[in-house]
Amino acid sequence: MSDWIKEYIGDFDGLVLRKNHPENTIVDMGDARFGDDERHIIAGPCAVESEKQILHIAREVKRAGATLLRGGIFKPRTSPYDFQGRGDEAVKWLVKAKEETGLPVVSEIVDISQLELMSPIDMLQVGARNMQNFEMLKKLGRQNKPILLKRSPASTVKELLMAAEYIMAEGNSNIILCERGIRTFENATRNTLDLAAVPLIKMVSHLPVIVDPSHGTGRPELIAPMAAASFSAGASGIMIEVHSNPEEALSDGKQAVDLKEFSRIMNSLKGMRGQFMERGL
Ligand code: PEP
Ligand code: MN
Repeated sequence: MSDWIKEYIGDFDGLVLRKNHPENTIVDMGDARFGDDERHIIAGPCAVESEKQILHIAREVKRAGATLLRGGIFKPRTSPYDFQGRGDEAVKWLVKAKEETGLPVVSEIVDISQLELMSPIDMLQVGARNMQNFEMLKKLGRQNKPILLKRSPASTVKELLMAAEYIMAEGNSNIILCERGIRTFENATRNTLDLAAVPLIKMVSHLPVIVDPSHGTGRPELIAPMAAASFSAGASGIMIEVHSNPEEALSDGKQAVDLKEFSRIMNSLKGMRGQFMERGL
């Protein structure tokens, strides 16, 4: 390990570090494996808005080659007056989309009291705003469901790793890390996508890492090049917000790609998904 990495990690000697666990951790969900050669595409709307909406998007993203479906049930919004998600009833819509398409589903948990309600969800997302909700992280560590832990826009990679440590120290090592952009002085993009974090995390940690170029740029035109760059950087997957009608979306419509553009992005990534595409998935 290079001296600068040793210096960066300092005296943190956690379970998440590769020096304490040299093998890659593999996180399995249905047919999807994160942490080896597979390259996954998690796609779907920012928020589950209706049964019809999620079923339609699920079928289309599956057809285009997505391997997991996303959709927020509870939305942590900056303004309390913005759409907060459909809540409880959206669980059954997302589960229906999962049953129909066979795609494993990921959705954000914003309070630990939602754990039972969200039991049919395959992977629980801890969003950027809750990355350091340490009591929730500890409780998520006491169950075994995979956790998608997103980096806060104001956190270092080391702080992200320490947040993952809260989960792993309680016994759950089914953790996927997600780079989703950090806050800088640049204002052409919603956030600044820190792609160097991907190889850095892979050097320092054994946990799989994915990239969210949707929140990372906030600009639909930048998603295709950043998706390709994410795979070049070594990401195990990317997460893209897709909406059948971005202009009508109840959240994050400005950064959503429509179904046509999603299909184009998928085609442009074909050569980069290696074995996984060859298996016809
Ligand atoms: C999301 O994935 O819709 C989301 C709210 O992401 P983040 O927590 O990264 O802002
Ligand atoms: Mn969103």
